[in-house]
Amino acid sequence: MEMNTLNNNNNNQSDSSSSPSSPQRKRVMNPLDPEEFRKQGHMIIDFLADYYTKVSNFPVRSQVEPDYLGKHLPPSAPFFPEPIQSILEDVQEHIIPGITHWMSPNYYAFFPSSGSVAGFMGEMLSAGLNVVGFNWISSPAATELETIVMDWLGEALKLPQQFLYKGSNNNNGGGVLLGTTCEAVLCTLVAARDKKLSQIGRDNIGKLVVYGSDQTHSSFGKAAQIAGIQNVRAIKTKRSNSFTLTADSLLSTIRSDVKNGLIPIYLCATVGTTATASIDPIMELCDVAKEYGIWVHVDAAYAGSACICPEFRSCIDGVEGANSFSFNAHKWFLTNLACCCLWVNDHNALTKSLSTNPEFLRNKASESKQVIDYKDWQIALSRKFNALKLWLVLRSYGVENLRNFLRSHVNMAKTFEGLVKLDKRFEIFVPRKFSLVCFRVSSSTIISRSSNNNNNNNHNGDYYGKLVNDDDDYLVNEFNRKLLESINNSGKVYMSHGEVEGAFVIRFAIGATLTEEHHVIMAWKLIQEHADSLLASY
Ligand code: PLP
Repeated sequence: MEMNTLNNNNNNQSDSSSSPSSPQRKRVMNPLDPEEFRKQGHMIIDFLADYYTKVSNFPVRSQVEPDYLGKHLPPSAPFFPEPIQSILEDVQEHIIPGITHWMSPNYYAFFPSSGSVAGFMGEMLSAGLNVVGFNWISSPAATELETIVMDWLGEALKLPQQFLYKGSNNNNGGGVLLGTTCEAVLCTLVAARDKKLSQIGRDNIGKLVVYGSDQTHSSFGKAAQIAGIQNVRAIKTKRSNSFTLTADSLLSTIRSDVKNGLIPIYLCATVGTTATASIDPIMELCDVAKEYGIWVHVDAAYAGSACICPEFRSCIDGVEGANSFSFNAHKWFLTNLACCCLWVNDHNALTKSLSTNPEFLRNKASESKQVIDYKDWQIALSRKFNALKLWLVLRSYGVENLRNFLRSHVNMAKTFEGLVKLDKRFEIFVPRKFSLVCFRVSSSTIISRSSNNNNNNNHNGDYYGKLVNDDDDYLVNEFNRKLLESINNSGKVYMSHGEVEGAFVIRFAIGATLTEEHHVIMAWKLIQEHADSLLASY
């Protein structure tokens, strides 16, 4: 690397020799040398382009053991500079093996993190400009682009006007870019909490109660804990209702809480739950919530993206009755991590809870109240110029291509679902939603084999019959757990699991940017092969 190295004589120089015009004055180093930036930037882009070319060759789930990395790296930071070439060599040799390849076309775990050229370029622009856009004056374009892009995206989702800057009465609505859904839930929850406490007094915080279902993401319970809310209801869902939160169960839970002197303030409804992508009935839930003045947040972290397609928009019908709506553009919208889009119908509720006004940030623009200071819509002060990323994604692909990209994954999921249905040893545990298929080797397949084996072993039939009946669920779950583990250990694909009503299900979530139909078919063959050998040894 051609970076200037430390000038050891600096400490001995007299004051006169350090005058700016002195020929002896030497910069210690220039960490933002444009030519070095260009050279190293090209190297990193080449490195990543090569990575994307060969990413399908790597074991999708990293195969390293805990503490593997310390064995390969020195115990302390280098004292002297090292060239980028040798750093990249170490990335290749030591970091890549410890990577789980979310960009692999064979990645089907959790929900996707769909990177793209536009998402990456946007991230790069944002990182390069490196502005800290906490308020309008700190970088007017960062704030203004965010308001424009959030309206663009809100329109693409056909969000009601009350959530848009240009549409809301009294200009109270609008969108903001946060890092994650956890932040969106926490910010809206504290807004709802403080709204209520301002009416009933802060001493009553112990009476507040918030609602979700047993399928609501764990970030909700965490947010409640951080917000100091002790009463958190995780209302039970059933397989017969596709694991959705019903209005009736919400209503009866609220009634019983109110009877016991509690004060309902917040409901987190989900469109696309983490385990099975279930869709809570937003309209009915909002109707119930309205009666009790409850803030409704719609968490569409994964599935929100799909709602830009007219055929999926009905999944968020009724969102006009909600107070806030969020989805993660970094999941299934080609926007590199992290980028959570949150819209609220009344940003005053957010800013009342989250704004700060220290002297060092005071400025004319903020005081004029003509501008947005996004620091007051979020937890942290500093914030990235994330709007650039989303702007590049929307402009580079256009809504039409984004829709087609999402549809292609849904179609692949339909293909996969069809293949599972053809093999009678397997069952689709809940009907496919969006691009997520939840399946497993069926209990009848496993129990019939298990009883055959037990009979063959000449054990007392009654004893084993009882054992099998009592432990059916356990056997089925353990079989599927082993199946998933053996597939993931192969490194050829990576899937994850969910547990619903005590059943272990394998989740096949399509959404990696590079996935094509032939990858899905290969994955299904692999699943069958592993099931064959596990069943044979069972
Ligand atoms: N909500 C749902 C429905 C999710 O599936 C997830 C993550 O998968 C989250 C919230 C958490 O998202 P984040 O990691 O952005 O906080």
